[in-house]
Amino acid sequence: MKAVAVFPGKPNSIHLADLPEPKVDEILGGRGVLVEVLRVGVDGTDKEINDAEYGEAPVVYEFLVIGHESFGRVLGVGPNVRGLEPDHYHGGSDRGAQQDGPDDATSDEPGPT
Ligand SMILES: [Zn+2]
Repeated sequence: MKAVAVFPGKPNSIHLADLPEPKVDEILGGRGVLVEVLRVGVDGTDKEINDAEYGEAPVVYEFLVIGHESFGRVLGVGPNVRGLEPDHYHGGSDRGAQQDGPDDATSDEPGPT
C-alpha cells in the first residue's frame, strides 16, 4: 500500500512510501485494529513534522507516515480490543479519537464534510 511519509529530522522529505498491507495480528497483545482509511487530512502538525521540527520514525522504519487526522471503517480487531467492532466507523486525530457505530455513520457519504 502507499502512504505519505517523511524522513524525521530531514526537512522537506515528504514522499510516497511503500508499506506492506497491515494485519491485525501484527500488534502485540491482541490489541490491533485494522481500519480502511476513507478520508485523511494533513494539518499544521504534519507541516511541522515535514519541517523537521519534531517526529520520530517507528523502530523498524526509516520514515514516519503522516496524516494523523483520519476517518475510516474498521475491518478487523484483535481479541483484546473493546469498544470497536468491524463495520464501525472511526475517526482519530491529535485531539482525540471518536467512533460511531454503523447506525450513526452516513450511508452514502462515509466521511465527514
Ligand atoms: Zn492534527
